[in-house]
Amino acid sequence: MLDEEKCWQAVLARDSRADGRFVMGVRSTGIYCRPTCPAKRPARERVRFFITPAEAEAAGFRACLRCQPQRELEPQMEMAQRACRYIEANPDADLSLAALGAEIGVSPYHLQRTFKRLIGVTPHQYAVAQRRSQLKASLKEGETVTNALYDAGYSPASLYANADAQLGMTPATYRRGGEGMSIAYTIVASPLGRLLVAATERGVSAVSIGDDDASLDASLRREYHSADIRRDDAMLDPAAAAILRHLEGQQPHLNLPVDVQATAFQQRVWQALRAIPYGSTRSYSAVAQAIGQPTATRAVAHACATNHVAIVIPCHRVVRENGDLGGYRWGIERKRTLLANERAGEKF
Ligand SMILES: [Zn+2]
Repeated sequence: MLDEEKCWQAVLARDSRADGRFVMGVRSTGIYCRPTCPAKRPARERVRFFITPAEAEAAGFRACLRCQPQRELEPQMEMAQRACRYIEANPDADLSLAALGAEIGVSPYHLQRTFKRLIGVTPHQYAVAQRRSQLKASLKEGETVTNALYDAGYSPASLYANADAQLGMTPATYRRGGEGMSIAYTIVASPLGRLLVAATERGVSAVSIGDDDASLDASLRREYHSADIRRDDAMLDPAAAAILRHLEGQQPHLNLPVDVQATAFQQRVWQALRAIPYGSTRSYSAVAQAIGQPTATRAVAHACATNHVAIVIPCHRVVRENGDLGGYRWGIERKRTLLANERAGEKF
């Protein structure tokens, strides 16, 4: 039996420990979500709780595209990530395996093995690197650190070799060049120029804007040089149509699932970008603060500049402190147009 009041408290707190214990169906939309879904929380009286996704589906609810509640959590990856977040937030705490294990709720042995396997370094090595990078950041060497990180290629081995550069962290699943990925794409006409939309079976992996199809095609193949890439207009039609509606101001909330290769740091930046409401902007430093790394302004700018998924991850909503537009990977005029259209069409 579910204690509905406790479930609702977990939803209000977006308590990650509740993930996997129950899902919530929202009567008005017919969608069911994880307790931690980043979408706007529904009104309490519209919510029904279910222990499993199967029960929610049996009751007629469809899975949310954004939090994908039907997908199994990867509990070990989740545990390792919680350990990373704890180490980052508590650099001065006792970070011995025993203390960290007690904090995370796993045995020291299990923590050491799992963390090393998934993150590529031990918790101790991670903590040491974290302290160094924080020191460097406070010395305003953020740019060098970050550039070194981005140049490092992110494999766990190179990450440890460049432990100084460890501003972000790579999931062990990060694969360079999209190796083993199967990517389908389409190119359509849009108000901003030719629009390429590419996706894996898990979500949108690239959206780019350009003047001609050949260069869009070439840059996709460069970015994911080891992936299996094919054109599939029919498969990508729904995603492309959603983006076009969004560009026309008809669909302010673009909740397409994304599947991008990224470091944990980039992931955090991109999540923060997706939280910027349609029609608004944030400064690079505001985003740095939002992810809890106020000194990482340049690293945030770099993450924006390396965003693979235009519009869906709205890096165009990040501007300079003084209101200047800053940069845009797909051309500054397109950024200007996007922002002007959003301000003109803003509706909720
Ligand atoms: Zn959801």
